[in-house]
Amino acid sequence: MLRTFSSLGRVASRVQATTTAARAFSTSQVQAISFGLTEEQQAIQELARKFTADEITPAAAHHDRTGEYPTEIIRKAWELGLVNTHVAQEYGGLGLGVMDASLVSEELAYGCTGIQTAIEANGLAEAPLVVAASHEQKKKYLGRMTEEPLMAAYCVTEPGAGSDVAGIQTKAVKKGDKWIINGQKMWITNGGKANWYFVLAKTDANARAGQAFTGFIVDADSKGIIVGRKEQNMGQRASDTRGITFENVEVPAENVLGAPGYGFKIAMGAFDITRPLVAAGAVGLARRAMDEATKYALDRKTMGKSIIDHQAVQFMIADMAIGIEAARMMVWKSGWLKDNGHRNTWEASIAKALASDVAVKSACDAVQVFGGAGFNTEYPVEKLYRDSKIFQIYEGTSQVQRLIIGKGVVDRVTK
Ligand SMILES: Cc1cc2nc3c(=O)[nH]c(=O)nc-3n(C[C@H](O)[C@H](O)[C@H](O)COP(=O)(O)OP(=O)(O)OC[C@H]3O[C@@H](n4cnc5c(N)ncnc54)[C@H](O)[C@@H]3O)c2cc1C
Repeated sequence: MLRTFSSLGRVASRVQATTTAARAFSTSQVQAISFGLTEEQQAIQELARKFTADEITPAAAHHDRTGEYPTEIIRKAWELGLVNTHVAQEYGGLGLGVMDASLVSEELAYGCTGIQTAIEANGLAEAPLVVAASHEQKKKYLGRMTEEPLMAAYCVTEPGAGSDVAGIQTKAVKKGDKWIINGQKMWITNGGKANWYFVLAKTDANARAGQAFTGFIVDADSKGIIVGRKEQNMGQRASDTRGITFENVEVPAENVLGAPGYGFKIAMGAFDITRPLVAAGAVGLARRAMDEATKYALDRKTMGKSIIDHQAVQFMIADMAIGIEAARMMVWKSGWLKDNGHRNTWEASIAKALASDVAVKSACDAVQVFGGAGFNTEYPVEKLYRDSKIFQIYEGTSQVQRLIIGKGVVDRVTK
């Protein structure tokens, strides 16, 4: 590029100016678009990959079959620093960025997204604290997560409201120096395992959504908390999903996050950190589906050749690769934007919507590649198919992501 500029033979000063601009341009492009991982990133990716191969993949079928919570696996992952990745070093964590954490999520999900979701749910509960907690709150609640392998949960969804967050009915009323919470939460990951909860509650019935809600940190052993039964879900059965009821639960005023009225913003702001990581999990699942389908297709023969040599089969695998590569790029881009101080809500929604669809389609096609064996629990892909579906539902359904993406497009065009 520089040679092209100098070969124009224009006036020296003009060439000089152009060359300088070109150099600056090319430098900024190199920094802005780098698909290479740093040595540290490669090391953490390798650590998570090895941990998955040694600990998660061999145990995945057992936890899927029994629904047993993977306490021991989480403890080992915690010891290696693969849990609570975005807790700052000041509070005992590694303080990894979203981009770094996405490498971990993809690898863990390759082994089992039920186990990865259980681990990831800590990150979801912690994200509102990362966004808005005071130093004291971070020290107390994030700090303890790095001292022992504790779990936490994010309590926003209710039986009557999931996508419509502004429709939640759980209420908190101030009494002296305490808040009293009453209401019911539903589909809470880590609900029965959490040491503390992030809880979104309505604190001003007359205000608009932006000011009507407050975020609280609630100790799980507080009086008045009733933990529901473990839900029997279609997939990701290692994960613990429950309803949680709050009956006159007292929360000290010091456990308000940010300030009263800021809860909606805080709860939604957390998704800028966590949606790229959920998307990374979906990429991990899709990659596993592709690998399993490819291995099976190389082995299985019909009509005198391996089924990989039937173009119709190989094209299904090619489509998986296309989806995985594209979705991972959106995961990395949305993570990179957040880590570099840019707003990433729109890109995080694209990453989440794209990666979820890729995961579901890849798992579905992997079952197809396996034929009858794909429908059987002795083979790994039916689990992937069951596990994949939730990616299009939790942390904002695929329709909700498209609302955000569509609005972003309209805003850009009409600005
Ligand atoms: C296994 C699991 C784990 C979960 N973990 C957690 C957790 O840890 N914490 C937590 O707070 N929640 C959690 N959830 C809840 C999850 O985030 C919600 O289920 C999800 O947001 C959808 O809400 P809903 O179930 O109320 O569906 P609804 O909001 O009732 O939606 C039903 C359907 O209508 C569509 N829809 C709704 N509104 C619109 C619209 N405006 N435009 C277009 N389509 C629309 C939806 O996309 C969906 O297809 C979990 C759920 C599950 C199943």
